[in-house]
Amino acid sequence: MTTLKSGVLATPQAAAPLAFDPDLVRKYDHAGPRYTSYPTADRFHEAFGPADYVQALITRRETRPHDPLSLYVHVPFCNTLCFYCACNKVITKDHGRSAKYIRYVAREIDIVSSILESDAPVAQLHLGGGTPTFLARDEMSSLIGHLRGAFPFAPDAEVSIEVDPRKVDASTIAFLGSLGFNRISVGVQDFDPAVQRAVNRIQSEAETRAVIESARANGFVSVNTDLIYGLPKQTVAGFSRTLDRVIGLSPDRIALYSYAHVPHLFKPQRRILLEELPPPADKLAILSLAIEKLGAAGYVYIGMDHFAKPGDELARAQAERKLHRNFQGYSTKPDCDLLAFGISAIGKVGRTYVQNVRTLDEYYDRLDARALPAFRGYLLTDDDLVRRDAISRLMCDFDLPIPEFEARHGVVFHLAFAAELLALAPLAADGLVEVTPTLIRVTERGRLLVRTVAMVFDRHLREARAAARYSRVI
Ligand code: SF4
Repeated sequence: MTTLKSGVLATPQAAAPLAFDPDLVRKYDHAGPRYTSYPTADRFHEAFGPADYVQALITRRETRPHDPLSLYVHVPFCNTLCFYCACNKVITKDHGRSAKYIRYVAREIDIVSSILESDAPVAQLHLGGGTPTFLARDEMSSLIGHLRGAFPFAPDAEVSIEVDPRKVDASTIAFLGSLGFNRISVGVQDFDPAVQRAVNRIQSEAETRAVIESARANGFVSVNTDLIYGLPKQTVAGFSRTLDRVIGLSPDRIALYSYAHVPHLFKPQRRILLEELPPPADKLAILSLAIEKLGAAGYVYIGMDHFAKPGDELARAQAERKLHRNFQGYSTKPDCDLLAFGISAIGKVGRTYVQNVRTLDEYYDRLDARALPAFRGYLLTDDDLVRRDAISRLMCDFDLPIPEFEARHGVVFHLAFAAELLALAPLAADGLVEVTPTLIRVTERGRLLVRTVAMVFDRHLREARAAARYSRVI
């Protein structure tokens, strides 16, 4: 029987609360893309290389030179290894390595900016990792100075950084503020000491609080904290205390990620003991509790793993149907081209996606040869562009008004998406989605599972599944 706790968490549209339905979550708890891009990165291919990226940059220069830009820099270094980690990082205590890296990132910035000759304003910069705060102050100043020298920044640009509170103090945050950073993301995961030991990430509430308070004192407009549920040694009671303490820190946004244990894909996870992971029923209870507590504390559900205070710009953008999806998750900026620098970084320019090489050696070799370090990418077809819009609107707005969509893309929806409408029928029967001739709407019960609805529009996924079925049959 379905037990439905409805209305535990209001979305910005007050009439559309998030409902936690454990039976539905259990039924649809499958691996699926997060749709930070469509097509997803596993569709990128190596036939797309630096020459294609250069062409995309030239096309932008010739056709859309003044469109705002988004920038991303990947800083891969970390001091210690968190066992749950699935990021592309380099564990080291040798700061000489980051000094060299920053010099090469500057070279990459120079090559790209010399092709673009852009005077377009930068609307958004994000430093991710790894641990961006691994950089020494002079390295950080040099990187930011180089970016600002290569690209003009809009006065109201969102400039954000991921911070590891174990390695910075209040004065570091003030220093970041002086460089123009105005948004911060703080990794927490769990304050429970047993969990912290099990994942090799010991981090006190006091050092986390110091970072958040310093961000506020230095005019940062948004503070995000990351939590992970499903970690080893985690319990409902322990995570309940973590939630209380995090809510007490009053971040503007909270990301609540589910830990996926895939040690064959991510080597550090081999250090996590399978028998220490919470059983599926506990993991579900932790998620249910988190939704309840965040709702009671006034956070609204943005989508996927994200929650925000109603006044936060993400929540306001969602209420105004101006939310977007990009490689950093949800974003308030319209669909800017994204220039990405550093190893493994993924960018988006026009109808292309492009990804850099994954190792430092390859990165340095390419740049020593004065070549761009792109190693794979993807050129979107017209069909991809239409589907990307459908998936993005569902992920951001939880609905897809069909007449507007038809007008935007010049399609007759029930003809262009006949197979998708058929595939939505069982989801509608289970109550995840409502489908009428004019609207596809993800229900309150379906919102936690929005990617299940989005996956219906993913042609590449459908073709991959069909190919897998075919190869099994023969
Ligand atoms: S989780 Fe973050 S801080 Fe920890 S090893 Fe991975 S990238 Fe580094």
